[in-house]
Amino acid sequence: EIGFRVLVGGGMGRTPIIGEEINAFVPWQHIITYNEAILRVYNRYGRRDNLYKARIKILVKALGVAEFKRQVEEEWAFGKDGANTLTEAEVARVAAHFTTPAYETLPGEDAGYASQRAANTAFAAWARRNVLAHKVPGYAIVVLSLKNPATAPGDITAEQLDLVAEWADAYSFGEVRATHEQNLVLADVKQADLFALWEKARATGLATPTFGLLTDIICCPGGDFCALANAKSIPIANAIQARFDDLDYLYDIGDIELNISGCMNSCGHHHVGHIGILGVDKNGEEWYQVSLGGSQGNDTSIGKVIGRSFAAAEMPDVISKIIDVYRAQRQDGERFIDTVRRTGLDPFKLGVY
Ligand code: SF4
Repeated sequence: EIGFRVLVGGGMGRTPIIGEEINAFVPWQHIITYNEAILRVYNRYGRRDNLYKARIKILVKALGVAEFKRQVEEEWAFGKDGANTLTEAEVARVAAHFTTPAYETLPGEDAGYASQRAANTAFAAWARRNVLAHKVPGYAIVVLSLKNPATAPGDITAEQLDLVAEWADAYSFGEVRATHEQNLVLADVKQADLFALWEKARATGLATPTFGLLTDIICCPGGDFCALANAKSIPIANAIQARFDDLDYLYDIGDIELNISGCMNSCGHHHVGHIGILGVDKNGEEWYQVSLGGSQGNDTSIGKVIGRSFAAAEMPDVISKIIDVYRAQRQDGERFIDTVRRTGLDPFKLGVY
């Protein structure tokens, strides 16, 4: 039977909290009425009177998750089996909007793709980082990188977008997706088309082969564009990208997530970056607080601040020192986040301060 595990109270901003489970399994038919019960409890007891506290996470924290769950279950007893209970017909109606593309029957490994990788190291590097496995034989998922160091992370021009639309039509059933990591994805590309797509993407600066690496930075608009910012974010990202411009070195560091926010609102998700950078204001000057050990995904964690803040000009050196500690401490094949979790922050503090 299909159902949902339901968690409540998660969020970032100035009060980062990991959501907690209130129901291990809600059958699919009841997921809407269950969510309605959550909202009704929040609407009744949440802090709508206070802009900063008007969050489900604040109510869950105030009541405790057990009491919040008790109230949701009590409320659900009234709404369960009500008008918003899902039927198979309704699910089928919605599912009809998400049909499977007309995939061709292809061999699992395209021979041409293998030989193109063998013949062209730049293409092979891109394929290794920015091409992901697909569940349909002969197809691949392509990450079009928006992390060209010459531009702000996540930026794309109108001309580039027109080209991406053409490639989506030509290679990926007319669909392109935007990710919260600030890249674009073509989700259904034939392996046989990858080389042609790479050549076009590369020619227009959309094939930076660094997906999931240190310079694939999530970065909010910060002080360059956002009226709420305490500090600029984009120049920090670009300075780090300029410092770490050696692909072999980036590949040696391996999978790592660096996220930057220009203020506590956390639009750049710094709380869940393996390395998080937060812009702070000190006496009218821009400073940067660094946290380590955050993580998104199934092993979510909130990063911990390592100590005093740094000036903008110090940031590339600070990141270098953190990476030096990781490379000295890591045990065979260990990812950055796993090293931080194993060693704790102390070796990193020693290396940085
Ligand atoms: S984190 Fe702050 S500075 Fe960055 S976009 Fe959000 S509100 Fe603006």
